[in-house]
Amino acid sequence: MPSSTAGFACAMSSALDPVLRVYPVRTLTERILDEIFPPLCVGCRRIGRWICDRCWMQVAWLGQGEPIPAPAGLDGVVAVAGFDGVAREAVHALKFGERHAISGMMGHLMAGAVPPHVIQVVAPVPLHSSRRRDRGYDQAAMLATRVGRSLDVPCRRNLLRRVRKTRQQTTLDGIHRRENVRGAFAPRERLQGEAVLLVDDVLTTGATMAAAAEAAREAGAGRVIACVFAWAR
Ligand SMILES: [Zn+2]
Repeated sequence: MPSSTAGFACAMSSALDPVLRVYPVRTLTERILDEIFPPLCVGCRRIGRWICDRCWMQVAWLGQGEPIPAPAGLDGVVAVAGFDGVAREAVHALKFGERHAISGMMGHLMAGAVPPHVIQVVAPVPLHSSRRRDRGYDQAAMLATRVGRSLDVPCRRNLLRRVRKTRQQTTLDGIHRRENVRGAFAPRERLQGEAVLLVDDVLTTGATMAAAAEAAREAGAGRVIACVFAWAR
């Protein structure tokens, strides 16, 4: 494994994007895991990092304050990158490639995009239990755990539950997506007005996020802000 990747943050940004996104500094555990299972770049398969220096520059990083329309019932959206190219590959690696360790890098970047001292609780947008069984893991919960740790805010993995199995949103258009997920979530725990960060991997139409936000409000949340790795514009 190239020594240049060992724990050094590498500052890159594209000419169009004034925001500096740096490759997250890895924890000791992550460094050890990377030695045992060296990551391959999701963009070009080069060994060493989840996104290599060259591919890092090609990510459509979103600027701070880039206006992302908040879905109904949300007080804001935080996203790291546009859902294209390398960022899309990163999401797919997490979701379908069983390369779970990439959640560390993604969660770090997501936490870095959240304004400080705003959030009191982090919670994932839950998968239905049967889908989690099929897949064996839950990518939103992994990201949420990571984001909570980075923000030093408790992660309530069981705040919400998916009460209804829904069709894969990717097969549906906007209106049908909203119908598909309406009432799909319910609170499982109670809050007392805390500001909640709802974590998922991708925001597309926002229908799923809006439905989850509604359940978070039922749980007693105050402000509800969405936090995703990629935004599909
Ligand atoms: Zn690469």
